Amino acid sequence: MITINQIKTEIRFETAGQRLELKDMLDSREVLQKKSAKILGINMTDVSGIVILKHSIDARKKPQIFQVYTLGITLQTKDLEETVVRRCRNKQVAMDTQKQYQFPVPGKQERTQRPVVIGMGPAGLFCGYLLARHGCRPIILERGFDVDTRTKDVEAYWGGGSLNPESNVQFGEGGAGTFSDGKLNTLVRDKDGRNREVLRILVEFGAPECILYESKPHIGTDVLKRVVVNMRHAIIENGGEVRFGAKVTGLVVEGGTLGGVRINDSEVLPARQAALAVGHSARDTFTYLDEIGIPMEAKAFAVGLRVEHPQRLINECMYGTEHGNMLPAAPYKLTAQTSTGRGVYSFCMCPGGYVVNASSEPGRIAVNGMSYSDRGSSHANSAVIVQVTPEDYGADGPLAGIVFQRRLEEEAFSIGNGRVPVQYYGDYKRSRRSEDPGASDSLRPNMKGAYVFSDLRGLLPHACEQAFIEGMEQFDRVIRGFAGDQALLSGIESRTSSPVRICRDDALQCPSVRGLYPCGEGAGYAGGITSAAMDGIRVAEQIAGQFL
Ligand SMILES: Cc1cc2nc3c(=O)[nH]c(=O)nc-3n(C[C@H](O)[C@H](O)[C@H](O)COP(=O)(O)OP(=O)(O)OC[C@H]3O[C@@H](n4cnc5c(N)ncnc54)[C@H](O)[C@@H]3O)c2cc1C
Repeated sequence: MITINQIKTEIRFETAGQRLELKDMLDSREVLQKKSAKILGINMTDVSGIVILKHSIDARKKPQIFQVYTLGITLQTKDLEETVVRRCRNKQVAMDTQKQYQFPVPGKQERTQRPVVIGMGPAGLFCGYLLARHGCRPIILERGFDVDTRTKDVEAYWGGGSLNPESNVQFGEGGAGTFSDGKLNTLVRDKDGRNREVLRILVEFGAPECILYESKPHIGTDVLKRVVVNMRHAIIENGGEVRFGAKVTGLVVEGGTLGGVRINDSEVLPARQAALAVGHSARDTFTYLDEIGIPMEAKAFAVGLRVEHPQRLINECMYGTEHGNMLPAAPYKLTAQTSTGRGVYSFCMCPGGYVVNASSEPGRIAVNGMSYSDRGSSHANSAVIVQVTPEDYGADGPLAGIVFQRRLEEEAFSIGNGRVPVQYYGDYKRSRRSEDPGASDSLRPNMKGAYVFSDLRGLLPHACEQAFIEGMEQFDRVIRGFAGDQALLSGIESRTSSPVRICRDDALQCPSVRGLYPCGEGAGYAGGITSAAMDGIRVAEQIAGQFL
């Protein structure tokens, strides 16, 4: 296949005011074929196949908005392709060199022992799926519940009911990612093609094809839920087993080797291999692992506040006022360095999304963001976060970060009296409590969960608070109005990544317990849905390799 990159076409805005979706914007096959044939210096009829490999929007020449494609072109024969590429002498044109992912352990062999996968977030789910597909008949243990039961528990909590510490936005089928924006981009580069394999598998189980080529792929919580359930069915059809309400509360270790896992402080399940994919919020499990001397270390992470704006403001800034609101909800990514050298950046931006109460422990409040596949809400939000290091925690030991997070979340709980505390940025800057604006046309939170207008000053440590304000003001130079008085803050954003790293060696095993494979975000080897899934695949390769 030949690849041609940087193919640009201008977006045509036929119907004033009508919001275009991706499918409405994409050029027809004929247009793309004509453009490709012209670049390659061949007849359109010589093109036997054409696929979009990459697609993005380029709004640098506002009000003109362009689409930029990388296309995969197939001609009658490979020889013809190579001849055309050689003759073409155009930097845009090359032979495709993308590597197809190959699971390194061949075939489906009968295996007596069954590996265990602890946790069914993206890391555990993909680890379990690859092991099942290759005949390992894995047993997946998830402390939370299936997606439907979990959704009921989460919506009951958001509706004012009590929090279920085992079934919430962090815990349950699909892990933390299920109630998310489902953004799938990752900075993790993988020469073996695991990134693309994750996207390919998501499409196989129901995600839209466009995630394979969109520059910022996302699927939204509504689609992600279906995909996760379809993957569960495939795991079971391939001989795997999934157990919900099965919290691993202990490890059986014999002579430095894993012998089994204890479930719900009672049943012991024999196992020689176990992927430990428990996510960044499994604080009780981290505490237990530290108690039994599993090598772990504190890891830097970031904390901050979630910030909401009208999506209209973001779209007009990103795409211009003429066409801004005729294009899909625009994302943004902002970074700043403060006068004290601290990094402040926007994180987990949710265009057309919601702020969610993402708490998992009674008496503690943590927020995050999510959206549905249409990104149709009138609000944009992201977390504006500040890097914190063990020095900021003011305590030491591997669990110091968890102590710090809990302190912040308890403070947020008390400020909001059990609801999510919110405040207008103008009041925050002036250390003035925000009052509920009532029926006025002030921006109101687009929140999943109860909230209350409050005063968030003093919630973040002083140095972080100063950095947050400096960052907001710098971001306002990039997006006019970002630090406007009406920008809405909510807190606390404390679960940005794992505060611990569980040590592992080159075989991805815990150095003191052979057969235990720390995996995914919780273990400190991923940040986000796709990179967690990629790490799950890596661990599956290691575990399956052990059976040969
Ligand atoms: C609201 C929200 C929105 C997000 N949005 C995005 C986004 O748009 N894009 C993105 O890339 N990332 C997003 N993230 C982050 C992303 O969800 C995580 O990075 C990812 O889910 C990490 O995957 P994981 O499998 O390592 O851990 P997790 O997804 O956290 O899964 C761990 C699982 O292990 C289970 N578990 C924990 N302890 C035990 C135990 N002892 N026994 C058995 N089971 C256990 C938990 O119940 C959980 O289901 C979001 C997170 C949240 C909370």
